[in-house]
Amino acid sequence: MTQPNETIFSKILRREIPATVVYETESVLAFRDVNPGAPTHILVIPKKPIVDISTAGPEDAQILGELMLAAAEVARREGIEKTGYRVVTNIGPHASQSVLHLHLHVIGGRQLGWPPG
Ligand code: AMP
Repeated sequence: MTQPNETIFSKILRREIPATVVYETESVLAFRDVNPGAPTHILVIPKKPIVDISTAGPEDAQILGELMLAAAEVARREGIEKTGYRVVTNIGPHASQSVLHLHLHVIGGRQLGWPPG
């Protein structure tokens, strides 16, 4: 199940507002987070407007897999594959999700703390 939703990421997908795109496929776009929390902080989003993984359904299995593979490809391109990195998706208020369009944060380039705040 997916819900059509208009967000700032819809505007980035339509190229109505600028973003620093680092990777793109037919179904996925990856761009730099405007407020990076680490030397590398990339957002990987599906072009399909899925709100978060909670609203994804079985029909989204392929795109969810593509997102994970895109995150790994972005990490390779950013040169953080060997040092390590984190892939995070925030869902809902307790996770402070601020954009209601599914996105994976690919974060790395420094030692990351665990558990996250
Ligand atoms: P979340 O809090 O998980 O929903 O993450 C949303 C992320 O989107 C935050 O890390 C923001 O810094 C980032 N963000 C918001 N607007 C933009 C934008 N126009 N371009 C790039 N990143 C953005």
